[in-house]
Amino acid sequence: MSAMFLLALQSCSVKKATVNQSTMVNSSLIKIKLQEKKVFNFQNEGISFSNDFPSARLNQLSKVNDSTFNITIAPENKPINQSPWFAFKVWSKGQKNIYVNLLYPENKHRYQPKISSDGVQWETLNEVKLSEEKNQASFKLALSKDTLLVAAQEIIASNQSYQWMDQLARKYSLDKKVIGYSIGGKPIIALNSKKSDGKKIVVILSRQHPPEISGYFAMVQFVETLLGNTRLAEDFIKKYELVIIPMINPDGVDEGNWRHSFAGVDLNRDWIDFKQPETRAVRDYLLTKVKKQDAKVYFALDFHSTYNDVLYTNEDRADTNQPGLTNAWVKGLHDFEGANKTVVKPSGNGGNVSKAWLGKVLNAEALTYEVGDNTPRAYIKQKATKVAEVLMMELQK
Ligand SMILES: [Zn+2]
Repeated sequence: MSAMFLLALQSCSVKKATVNQSTMVNSSLIKIKLQEKKVFNFQNEGISFSNDFPSARLNQLSKVNDSTFNITIAPENKPINQSPWFAFKVWSKGQKNIYVNLLYPENKHRYQPKISSDGVQWETLNEVKLSEEKNQASFKLALSKDTLLVAAQEIIASNQSYQWMDQLARKYSLDKKVIGYSIGGKPIIALNSKKSDGKKIVVILSRQHPPEISGYFAMVQFVETLLGNTRLAEDFIKKYELVIIPMINPDGVDEGNWRHSFAGVDLNRDWIDFKQPETRAVRDYLLTKVKKQDAKVYFALDFHSTYNDVLYTNEDRADTNQPGLTNAWVKGLHDFEGANKTVVKPSGNGGNVSKAWLGKVLNAEALTYEVGDNTPRAYIKQKATKVAEVLMMELQK
C-alpha cells in the first residue's frame, strides 16, 4: 500500500492541465478480487514461494508431498478470455528438484512456462505435461537458494515500462505527460516527439491486456525504429509527430490480471462507452491534442498478442486521412515475409475496440497489431523494424 500512497502523492504535483481524473485511489471502483500477496513458507522442505511482487499471479498453493506442489491459477473475475497468466517466485534452502502442477479450475493452460533468475534473461521450459483436459500443466523446477522466477511470459510490470519511457524520453527528447490515472492511481503516460509542426500524427498504443508481452516487445521495437538515427527516421520525425501511450492498463499488469482492469473490465471493449478512466484518459488526450494542434492522425497501431501473428484492420475507406495507407503498408510487410505471410483480417469499422474509434472518430488508418504468444523474440523485432520502415516510406511518398 505504501508504494501506491507514494504514487498518489507524486500525482498531486503533476500539472493540473493534463490530469482529468482524481488522483486519489477510490477503492469502491475496484471490482475484482485482489490476490493475497505473500510469501508461502514450507519449513520442513525448506522451500518458499512468493506472489508478493508486481505482475505475480498465484491464487492458492498447497503441498502434495515433500517435492510436489499444486498452484491454483484463477482469473481476476469472470467471464474472461482464455489467457491464464501466472507468475511466481520460488527458492529453497539447498539444491532441490520439485514438481509443480498448475491447476486451472475452469480454464485451459495456454502459456508455455518461462523461467528466469534475473528477470531479464528468460528461458522457455519445454518439458511440460498437460492433462487430457488441459486444465493442469506439470513441470519440474531445479531450485537453489537463488530466487527463480516462473511466469507465463517474460515479466514487464508497470515500473519497468515507466523506466523505459523515461529512458526513451531522455534519449530522443520526447515530451512526457501524465494524461490520467488508472483506478489504482497509477499514471497513464503519453510520450510525444516534438520535431515536427504537429499537424500530422501517428498514434501507438499498448498494454490494454496485461499478459500480451509479445505485442509489447513489438511496440518497443517499432517505436525505437521510428525514433532511430537512420536518415529515414530523422526525416520522418521532422514531418510526423509520434504519440506513444505504452501502458494503458497498469493496474491489470501489476496485479497479474489475465485481461481486465481493476474494474474487471476489458478496456479494449470500452471504446464506445468510455466508462473507464484509462480509456477516457486516452480519448480525451487525443481529441484535445488533435483540436489544439489542428492536426490529423494518419496512422494508429494498437499492439496486442494472441495465438499467432495477425493484423485486425478496419475495412477500407476512401475518406480516411490517408486512404490506402493500410493496404500499402500490408503489401510492404507481405513482400518482406515471402511465403509466410501474416494473416490480415478486416473486422469491420464498428465495434468497441480502439482501432474502430481511431478510424471512425479520428479518420485514421488504424489497426490492431497482434503478435503470437510464441513468435520468436528475434523475429518480433525484425518484423517490427520492417513495418516501421515501410510505414515511414509510405508516409513520405
Ligand atoms: Zn489484446
